[in-house]
Amino acid sequence: MAKPVVAIVGRPNVGKSTIFNRIVGERISIVEDIPGVTRDRIYSSAEWLAYDFNIIDTGGIEIGDEPFLEQIRLQAEIAIEEADVIIFLVNGREGVTAADEEVAKILYRSQKPVVLGVNKIDNPEMRSEIYDFYALGFGEPIPISGSHGLGIGDLLDEAAKHFPKSGAKDYDEDIIKFSLIGRPNVGKSSLTNAILGEDRVIVSSIAGTTRDAIDSNFKYNGQDYVIIDTAGMRKKGKVYETTEKYSVLRALRAIERSDVVLIVIDGEEGIIEQDKHIAGYAHEAGRAVIIVVNKWDAVEKDEKTMKEFEQNIREHFQFLSYAPIVFLSAKTKKRIHTLMPMIDVASENHSRRVQTTILNEVIMDSIAMNPAPTDKGKRLKVYYTTQVAVKPPVFVVFVNDPELMHFSYQRFLENRIRDAFGFEGTPIKIFARERS
Ligand code: GDP
Ligand code: GDP
Repeated sequence: MAKPVVAIVGRPNVGKSTIFNRIVGERISIVEDIPGVTRDRIYSSAEWLAYDFNIIDTGGIEIGDEPFLEQIRLQAEIAIEEADVIIFLVNGREGVTAADEEVAKILYRSQKPVVLGVNKIDNPEMRSEIYDFYALGFGEPIPISGSHGLGIGDLLDEAAKHFPKSGAKDYDEDIIKFSLIGRPNVGKSSLTNAILGEDRVIVSSIAGTTRDAIDSNFKYNGQDYVIIDTAGMRKKGKVYETTEKYSVLRALRAIERSDVVLIVIDGEEGIIEQDKHIAGYAHEAGRAVIIVVNKWDAVEKDEKTMKEFEQNIREHFQFLSYAPIVFLSAKTKKRIHTLMPMIDVASENHSRRVQTTILNEVIMDSIAMNPAPTDKGKRLKVYYTTQVAVKPPVFVVFVNDPELMHFSYQRFLENRIRDAFGFEGTPIKIFARERS
């Protein structure tokens, strides 16, 4: 099921990012440790009591050089479009401002539930400051303090009341869900059309799901697929759609709903930083990944060009060493037919379970061949390995002391597992646990 989405809106300096960070807490991100892939966080998963949800700080989405008021309005529109519940944040120390009223007007016109948080109420004596905010028309204002961490639970309790009731299932498990991700103009829409236009593809319906407007369902060789729309793909035209943060946000939402992510790169323009950003998210989310180099028709080539481009990709996307690369053209349709079989392979590997006995043989053989180095006189001992999850495959290695499992040795074991079982197209994860 798709997780509920909460968006925070409000004018600058009311404390949106402070509250966002409070709610998100200390989440470690692998991708942020990869050089060149650091980013300001505006989107994250979060938990509150029994609820899992996603949260967006719309304040982090800067829209070109639009004037101040226009920025806030567009951010409110993004919140309305993206979220199930909106947290409207105001500053309890400044009373209602004209900009607050402006935001209120926009939110009021939408049908989305709004929870009003009055921030910077740092102590109980200040609670009387909240009454002014009834005038905004969103019911009872909730006093909070981002910097002191007060009232955040009350705020989330109120937001959770509006979460969609469960049962809004996204798609059946046996449908392969994939998305085309990439910056604007790399050819995502053209590729979607090229795939749907293939001979053996039977488009069954263009279904609207809960929130994300246009997914495409189709059948190919008897298997059902859905192309998860990276919206904006087909309903282009909103002012904010060309901003990087917004397109990343859309990409994230699509990645989350996908089994397989096709990272589309413009072969004509080459790789830029933003491509890496988006790829990093797909990897971090544990999705199967295929790298698609589009517009290959427009590239002047000799016999070395493809090899060089491939090397370039491998250098830039070291964390995606498992992802196959395909060079094609949405325009001329050249090699389009190689995509579906590749999606099948990636999807199969993503949900693959290996036999425990064979897995243990592989691990024990690897260790016999290349024992872990000693660390302060102690040596890693491996007792048993088991696969605990799929999508992506996760392995737990039971050892004498997890501290002794260094990154490089873990990498070695990952490579051995890959040599033995393949797993092309999917990340795999390995954790060391102490045998109890
Ligand atoms: P944003 O622009 O809405 O994202 O606001 P920020 O989160 O960047 O916060 C703006 C300023 O308000 C920062 O200096 C924060 O430290 C401060 N701030 C945030 N929350 C509180 C709060 O609960 N109480 C007080 N006194 N200051 C706060
Ligand atoms: P999107 O923004 O990623 O959905 O990109 P579009 O599908 O709208 O394509 C952007 C531009 O690239 C359009 O002008 C397309 O005609 C062009 N384009 C897309 N695929 C190809 C291709 O394979 N070769 C060439 N030469 N142009 C392409």
